[in-house]
Amino acid sequence: MSLVVMKFGGTSVEDPAAIGRTAAIVAGRVAEGKRPVVVVSAMAKVTDQLLRAAAAASTGDRTGALAISSRLRSRHRDTAAALVKVPADAAALQNLVDQKFDSLDEILRGLAAILELTPRISDLIVSFGERISSRIVAAAFLERAIDAAHIDARDVIVTDSQFQKAAPQDALIEKRAHEHLRPHVAAGRVPVMGGFIASNEAGITTTLGRGGSDFTAALVGGALSADAIEIWTDVDGIMTADPRVCPDALRVKIISFEEAAELAYFGAKVLHPATILPAVKKNIPVLVLNSRNAACEGTRITSLAPHCSSPFKSIAVKKKLSIIDVVASRMLMTHGYMKDIFTIFDKHQCPVDMVSTSEVSVSLSVDSNDKLPAIAADLSQLADVKYEGRKALICMVGEDIRGQSGMAAQVFTAVRHINVRMISQGASEINMSFMIDEDDADEAVRSLHAAFFQNPDPTIFDVEARKPAEV
Ligand code: ASP
Ligand code: MG
Repeated sequence: MSLVVMKFGGTSVEDPAAIGRTAAIVAGRVAEGKRPVVVVSAMAKVTDQLLRAAAAASTGDRTGALAISSRLRSRHRDTAAALVKVPADAAALQNLVDQKFDSLDEILRGLAAILELTPRISDLIVSFGERISSRIVAAAFLERAIDAAHIDARDVIVTDSQFQKAAPQDALIEKRAHEHLRPHVAAGRVPVMGGFIASNEAGITTTLGRGGSDFTAALVGGALSADAIEIWTDVDGIMTADPRVCPDALRVKIISFEEAAELAYFGAKVLHPATILPAVKKNIPVLVLNSRNAACEGTRITSLAPHCSSPFKSIAVKKKLSIIDVVASRMLMTHGYMKDIFTIFDKHQCPVDMVSTSEVSVSLSVDSNDKLPAIAADLSQLADVKYEGRKALICMVGEDIRGQSGMAAQVFTAVRHINVRMISQGASEINMSFMIDEDDADEAVRSLHAAFFQNPDPTIFDVEARKPAEV
């Protein structure tokens, strides 16, 4: 028996049509003899709207907050009504949706009176998104003859009490998954639970942080030693570059965990690196699949990357960066100087992406943010400081950069017409990155793509997509 955790993101449950497609995909897996455990996000944009309602209520805008909640109530009621038609089931589901929104409204009214939004209350408010979506999806499955069982994710995913970014307690999750999920799977039922939401040991609602549903899927997969984890989203998988920038971009059929994590860190929107760790630890393959194009085989993320005749797997871009140049002709190599510089970044809680040093200067790259003037003011106590925004980091990822000589020369030849500001190599053996002006980023990606993906390895990349369509 093959156990597969299937996670459906916000766009895969955004409306009745999307939930219908999701049900068909799950039914397909059941028909193949697989045993799915389903994890769903809130319907698309719902988490953002719940946060907006919370923010409004906390500033005393009770009417505004309740108006948002009332729009959400209609959207969920309409979705439920479109999916579940058997009269008794439809009535029960409407009732359930109404009950949830009644409690949400009560919390929002309370918040509008107290005027203080704590992380704990914020988690409670956003939890409604997944609590309700998972109920609707489970009911829609039942109506489509999928033997589904709704599970409250908060009974399974146990975390510490760092609200808004709680850390999972692996041993407890494993125990709870065996208590709450295993029996259903064994009986041939499909458990359906919300992603993202969890609770601490005292049962108080927490969340795993924004985008946390993938993390839930990996945690459940790890706890149950699943055979695979499927992340259903609205793209065909990991691509060699952003297809909006580079129409030639190809789907990457198979990639290593390490490469995928590196790409995620550098802004590829498909997966968050930490989310797949529980799967990496247990060697469970993760598949990224498209619920709007279920026939596409997606991207398979595995612990070991197969050999690839192309040096790179993908080009990622991180925009909205700034470079800070600190120039001190006399002081640079004096003892403690670097430490002083980093102490200032630390004081402003500003993480540094990339560092390069020369005889007299240190250049650092950071996410552009409103603390930069204050940071620059502090740094200017030490040396001359200049900072410049609108920079982009181009990151080329691939296992086969290792041990291939002349790779840097090829990369910089491909972008010889573009001014390169900072270069980093070696920090990670599987990525080569450099900083350029944001305005040059798209052109750089296209040039690099043309240079490195001309003869893509067909075992790794979906080259079929590039063949001209038959007439
Ligand atoms: N609904 C949550 C969010 O929007 C979690 C998720 O979608 O993964 O952040
Ligand atoms: Mg999401």
